[in-house]
Parts: sequence; C-alpha cells; structure tokens
Amino acid sequence: MADRDGLIWFDGKMVDWREAKLHVLTHSLHYGMAVFEGVRAYQTTAGTAIFRLEEHTRRLLNSAKIFQINVPFTYDVLMQAQKDTVRQNGLESCYIRPIIWIGSEKMGVSAKGNTIHVAVAVWPWGAYLGEDGIAKGIRVKTSSFSRHHVNVSLVRAKASGYYINSILANQEVTAHGYDEALLLDTDGYVSEGSGENVFIVRNGKLYTPDLASCLDGITRDSVITMARDMGIEVIEKRITRDEMYCADEAFFTGTAAEVTPIRELDDRQIGEGRRGPVTEKLQSMFFDVVAGKADRYRHWLAPV
Ligand code: PMP
Repeated sequence: MADRDGLIWFDGKMVDWREAKLHVLTHSLHYGMAVFEGVRAYQTTAGTAIFRLEEHTRRLLNSAKIFQINVPFTYDVLMQAQKDTVRQNGLESCYIRPIIWIGSEKMGVSAKGNTIHVAVAVWPWGAYLGEDGIAKGIRVKTSSFSRHHVNVSLVRAKASGYYINSILANQEVTAHGYDEALLLDTDGYVSEGSGENVFIVRNGKLYTPDLASCLDGITRDSVITMARDMGIEVIEKRITRDEMYCADEAFFTGTAAEVTPIRELDDRQIGEGRRGPVTEKLQSMFFDVVAGKADRYRHWLAPV
C-alpha cells in the first residue's frame, strides 16, 4: 500500500502518496486510539459521487468527540477533503479512508497536549467479501471472541483499537476456511460481523440486532430505510444464534462489504443456501442507489 502513485490529504495539504509518513513514536500506534471512517465513492449516472458523505463525516467527528479528541479541522473542511482526494486521484469509484490520530510529542497513556492529525487516503477496492460472495453468499462461523461490552468499549465510535477484536475473530474463522466471523455480545446474543452489521429475514420481515454492542452502520441504516420504504417491516431486537440458523435468509451490510448474503452459519445452511429473494431485492436496490439510479435516494450522493 505504501509504495504507489497518488495523493493523500495530510493535515490540510495534498502530499505525494509515498511521503505520507508518521513518526514511530506516534501515540495512536502505541495505544490504539485513533478514529477513522470507511466510505465509498461510486461511479454514478452523474459522475463520481460519495455515498452518504455527510453521515460518515458526522460519525467520524462523533467518534473523536467520544474520546475527547479536539479535531483541528471543521466538518466542512473534512467533507471537502474527501471530495478533493477522490477527484485529484482521478478515481471513478474507490474506498475512502479518513483517519484522525494523536501525534508523537509525548508517550504514556495520557494523550493530553499531543497534537491531533488527520489524513484522507483513497484507493480502488472491489467487493470486500468477493464478487462470488455478493452473488452466492458466504460461509460464516461464530467466533469464540465476544464483541465489545458497552462499559468496556464505546461502540458508537469507530476506533482503531477496537479492530483487534475484529482481527482475532476473523483470523480464528478464516484459518478454518470460513469467509467471515460472526461475533456475539457478552450476553451471547448476535452482535455483528468483524466489519459488518448483520440482518436476518423470517416470514418476509427483516430483523437486526439493536445497537447496544455493534457499530451504528450507515449501510445498516440505508438498508433499514430502503426496506421500510418498500413496505418490508424491520425489527431491531436481540437475536440468538439459533434464530439465525433457522432464518429464511441472512446477510451482512457494510461500506466495504456492501450487501453480502450469508449462505451458511456454523455449518448450517441458511434457507436455501443461496442469496434469498428479499436479500436480492435489497441488494439490487442498494446497487441502484449508489449508482444514482434511484431518484428517491439521490440526496445520499455527494458529487465530487
Ligand atoms: N460493524 C463494524 C465492526 C464495522 O467495521 C463496519 C464497517 N464500518 C460496520 C459494522 C458497517 O458499518 P458501515 O455500514 O457504516 O460501513
């Protein structure tokens, strides 16, 4: 990743990709407190546009607020930085990674007095769980690692350190040939994937875990909105692992994962073992929306 052409927005300036470097004593590297976003820009009927840029930028600033990180750039500057980075790298569609971190002035758990830095990088990134996964569904395994507890991690924030838990879960299951991990909360109820929210379909209704232990996903919100607009009932509630085994359909949502069907959980086939009809309807609507083909949701797209 470090050795390629391109530009990265770095503390207010565009710098050459290879020059976007930090000191080894960067506080965030040692203690894991950095906040970031994952955003996507899509090629649309009216040129390249960023999907739900406002919501992602707001979540980024809320993540910083939760950790009392004083961001030296405004919401408007951060919005513009993301648009500029996409445009100046000349990419029609890409993944966007804004990140806010704590500088290298001082070591020790207290970050007080250290400088705060911001960067935005963009790169082409295809289907996170594979094109095959999008079409046919993926094989998922419940991890032995629990998702965050509300009084251990503040999960409204999207923070770098939290991904240690995601990596542990993902490593554990992919080592045994599964595509992705499902994590349960500390009470044993379904929470989310290592980088995705989760949904099930039963008798035509959509169910997803409430937000206690999972990220308030922007794709999750988009799917809930689209489903309700289509007349599909959506219920946020505690979900058990066996409820998922017996679901008609299941799928993951996320900026990287988009809408990816789950065809198997813990070696039990879900429904027909392939992308189900409700999943397909929502997935196809999602891809229409991000491509600017659905007037109703055009306000979710910010042209660059
Ligand atoms: N949960 C986790 C742990 C994630 O990392 C992500 C990806 N950001 C999501 C859910 C989905 O969130 P979003 O739809 O906002 O990308």
